[in-house]
Amino acid sequence: MKKNSEIVIERKLDPVDLIVIAGAGGFIGGALARHFHELGFTRIRAIDRKPLPEWYQRVPGVECISMDLSENQNAIQAVVGAKEVYNLAADMGGMGFIEKFRVECLRSVLINTHLVDAAWRAGVERYFFSSSACAYNTDLQKDPHVRALRESDAYPAMAERGYGWEKLISEMFCQEYWAERGLETHIARFHNIYGPHGTWFGGREKAPAALSRKVIEAKDTGDMRIEIWGDGTQTRSFCFIEDCVLGIDQIMHCDALIATPVNLGTSELIAINDLVSMVEDIGGVRLERRHDLNAPLGVAGRNSDNTFIRSILDWEPQIPLRVGMEKTYYWIEQQYADRKAGKRVVTD
Ligand code: NAD
Repeated sequence: MKKNSEIVIERKLDPVDLIVIAGAGGFIGGALARHFHELGFTRIRAIDRKPLPEWYQRVPGVECISMDLSENQNAIQAVVGAKEVYNLAADMGGMGFIEKFRVECLRSVLINTHLVDAAWRAGVERYFFSSSACAYNTDLQKDPHVRALRESDAYPAMAERGYGWEKLISEMFCQEYWAERGLETHIARFHNIYGPHGTWFGGREKAPAALSRKVIEAKDTGDMRIEIWGDGTQTRSFCFIEDCVLGIDQIMHCDALIATPVNLGTSELIAINDLVSMVEDIGGVRLERRHDLNAPLGVAGRNSDNTFIRSILDWEPQIPLRVGMEKTYYWIEQQYADRKAGKRVVTD
């Protein structure tokens, strides 16, 4: 299997071709804009609904536009002249957000519906959609000792209410725009992406960032307790942002992955209690644990089966959780210190 340093991608893309990234004020979209900029692409249009000062990353030399892509006219304007479009825009967050705000999650269907149609009308060559493991049948995820999810496990469908169904229907739009209209689409199902430059407080943050912040807070305040959502036996796999961005780039430029959803995650399964221990190790503390059994939990267990992506790309996400968590923890620690000192930091 190829290591990240060995990846060579045939993109059929000139450095001056226009790349449009929707949701680029957010975590993954921002990292993707940086990735293409660092590769030497000179025309990147980054779009997000948030006002520019609230973007997590603004890459120098990248055109940044604040625009609501759930409006059809804006979607049309967004893709003018584009060769490739990456849709990373969605109203989303961790379990606390997606269980509470199902309408907002469902309304993200408008973004993809307008954007994929606008891309087809504008003659875009390739279109990427960021789907999610939440599209999988929840009946298969009721045990912490789960069988890892294969791509075929999305059907028969019983996706996560709201967020997961939006992903499933948007996937279908992408597949039918290829089948009926010939727009080349690519779809990745992300499994818990984490890393620096993501949300770490405010209510939309996910477990790796939330637990890092709680450990940092405990050390700072001297209140050596930590609240954990659920009994902590729920299991997940987590994929570091660098693997995610490299995966998107490969999936988008792979002819064997047209209109074919593919998992993008690691298969390193961990219980939340063990993730807490890992973060405590990194922070050099042990905290008294309190389990909130009424907090939003999501499914009991979820892991990524990477057989398919390995068979196609001879690659899978490979950065160990401990390595990624250290980078994430230290980044949040710096953000925490900056916030305390009154400097501007990333929030939702
Ligand atoms: P994020 O919240 O950091 O970024 C999404 C961005 O989309 C935000 O900046 C938001 O302002 C923007 N947005 C929302 N509505 C918009 C609109 N109407 N017009 C323009 N922009 C709009 O989330 P992320 O973690 O970067 O996720 C990116 C994509 O990956 C999303 O589609 C998400 O559902 C998917 N995904 C993420 C994960 C993960 O673990 N982070 C897991 C599965 C799927």
